[in-house]
Amino acid sequence: MILVTGGAGFIGANFILDWLAHSDEPVVNIDKLTYSGNIAKLSAVREDARHIFMQADIGDQERMHAVFHTYRPRAVVHFAAESHVDRSIADPAAFIATNVCGTFSLLEAARRYMASLTGEEKNSFRFLHVSTDEVYGSLDPGDPPFNEASPYAPNSPYAASKAASDHLVRAWHHTYGLPMLATHCTNNYGPYQFPEKLIPLTIANALADKPLPLYGDGHNVRDWLYVGDHCAALRSVLAGGVPGATYHIGGNSEKTNLDVVNLLCDLLDRLTPRADGHSYRRQIAFVADRPGHDRRYAVDAGRIAHELGWKPAESFDTGIRKTVEWCLAHPQWLAPAEAVSAEGTGA
Ligand code: NAD
Repeated sequence: MILVTGGAGFIGANFILDWLAHSDEPVVNIDKLTYSGNIAKLSAVREDARHIFMQADIGDQERMHAVFHTYRPRAVVHFAAESHVDRSIADPAAFIATNVCGTFSLLEAARRYMASLTGEEKNSFRFLHVSTDEVYGSLDPGDPPFNEASPYAPNSPYAASKAASDHLVRAWHHTYGLPMLATHCTNNYGPYQFPEKLIPLTIANALADKPLPLYGDGHNVRDWLYVGDHCAALRSVLAGGVPGATYHIGGNSEKTNLDVVNLLCDLLDRLTPRADGHSYRRQIAFVADRPGHDRRYAVDAGRIAHELGWKPAESFDTGIRKTVEWCLAHPQWLAPAEAVSAEGTGA
């Protein structure tokens, strides 16, 4: 079986649903159930014996040790993290506790467990660390995208905490021989994303006739990837990735935040027009910029394409349409997020 951390979060839950749709291999899901974790995302597999859920903090090293020894996973897929940049600016402590200390605790439990393995069990064990493109800092408009050799330059407390966790994972490989794999993915979107992030927040606010907040001039650029494509990429890295290697995962879909919000408004105008006949675009409201806001992120995802044959199946147009349709069919997942700042719109 495999051990997934943070499997009640946005990407983790999508990954477990995708995994169980492609494989009969069971999953042990460890999640603390913070504000962004909700086990109802996995209600489709509630009765499925292949999904074992345990509410636990990855920072509880003895508990993690017990989990490894009870379930004897052949691999770990580590999603659990504090993930929202605005929250990391308002209150960074939880980011250090989970992203840095929690990852350390999980690595130590994995190291102790590895020491008990022999032969093929030991050779095939993998620790897949899920990271972000934000650890590299900000690109200027004409810069080439980040590649796997780009230097680290994290700018937000979130990015710095993820960068720290990347360094720990790398060191556990180099020093102790932990067979890690690391991935750096661009912005995800899709079902079950917590409605504090740009896309679900925009849809939720549009439908509630609230302002659609955009930081600064709205021209910050992100690359967007449909979450199902991220899940497929992680499956391919777990299956074929070389221990010690890092893979970039991206959608080849760079957009300004303003482009994304305009597109969402246009889709909503078609699918569920405002009662007064106006476009949702009239709800767009520019707000004071986020402190230290990175201008542009983008990754070169050539390595995973050449070495593992992964490419995104969705374009931004097909993925965003699926996402809007899913949100309209599942409005309960757009319930207002607890505000972290007056205007938070996190991409
Ligand atoms: P999320 O906030 O939706 O989910 C995080 C999950 O981790 C939640 O279920 C939460 O309860 C759990 N968690 C938090 N602290 C924990 C702890 N101490 N112990 C156990 N569980 C804990 O985040 P997400 O968007 O699904 O991101 C998942 C991972 O992917 C993160 O590591 C993030 O850095 C990375 N990532 C996200 C994106 C993106 O666009 N969302 C892009 C690249 C990488």
